[in-house]
Amino acid sequence: MAVAKVAGPGAPEEAGALFVAATPIGNLDDVSTRLKAVLERASGVAAEDTRRAGRLLQSLGIRSPLISLHAHNERSRTPELLGRLLSGEDLVLLSDAGTPGISDPGMRLVWEARQSGIRVTPLPGPCAAVAALSVAGFPADRFHFEGFLPSRQAARRSRLKQIKAVPETLVFYEAVHRLTAALQDMREVFGGERKAFLARELTKIHESTHGGTLADLCRKAASGKIVLKGEFTLVLGGDGGPDGDEAALDSILTALLEELPTRQAARLGAKLTGTPRRVAYSRALELQVRE
Ligand code: SAM
Repeated sequence: MAVAKVAGPGAPEEAGALFVAATPIGNLDDVSTRLKAVLERASGVAAEDTRRAGRLLQSLGIRSPLISLHAHNERSRTPELLGRLLSGEDLVLLSDAGTPGISDPGMRLVWEARQSGIRVTPLPGPCAAVAALSVAGFPADRFHFEGFLPSRQAARRSRLKQIKAVPETLVFYEAVHRLTAALQDMREVFGGERKAFLARELTKIHESTHGGTLADLCRKAASGKIVLKGEFTLVLGGDGGPDGDEAALDSILTALLEELPTRQAARLGAKLTGTPRRVAYSRALELQVRE
């Protein structure tokens, strides 16, 4: 398969190209004809995990040399790879699965290669976030990709509070051992009625999906209806604007204002509903004016 070499300004004419290649997130049949052809022809394949990439190449009958490139050596490896690209080699960048750079390493090499005028071209394909969105049935003309939340609960909750009001569909990656805790925190912060869709093991033999509300998913996870094994992507509906959460804040504040001074009522109302304190305070003032 012919690939036009168009080195950018600043790069020698003979410079090679960097192919940023998406690989299957489970099903090897998702390898494209183009990916196979480029892998066959490449001088080297920079991979997050060379053993895993080796298995992929072996399954395709390809013997191109592998180069390790992961989060911990990307900085030190990049100059060597740039040198190879500038001297005319075509290289492929792979992550463990899915699209490099999406919650995966690759950004530094891509940026530096582009800065050096090297042609960087995508081999598009699987991405768990996009695959999950495509089957969720949620609005995706705009969406917010959140990726992995912080692993510590306090930081996770604080991040969730920051994105609580995002109106677009939200997409999260989550590790299996944190899934239940993350779902519970989401229910606390976003409210149990937020629309939710959980995609497990997409494209693999045990692919399963669960839709409903956050409360439904928490219940299913607790009762074992969601098998807590494998890889998960979670899609949540965006904040629908004035909704149940605001109504809940209003009713709690109204009750508290009958018993407590404004500041104290707002502080308690904020705590009980997970609302930022200043929001609860200004709402408390509005409610008092109305009375
Ligand atoms: N760059 C990758 C991509 O484009 O999909 C994502 C890499 S990130 C390190 C891995 C996370 O993606 C997993 O922890 C999981 O949340 C999600 N994921 C990967 N494969 C998946 C699958 N087959 N089904 C559901 N989620 C998956």
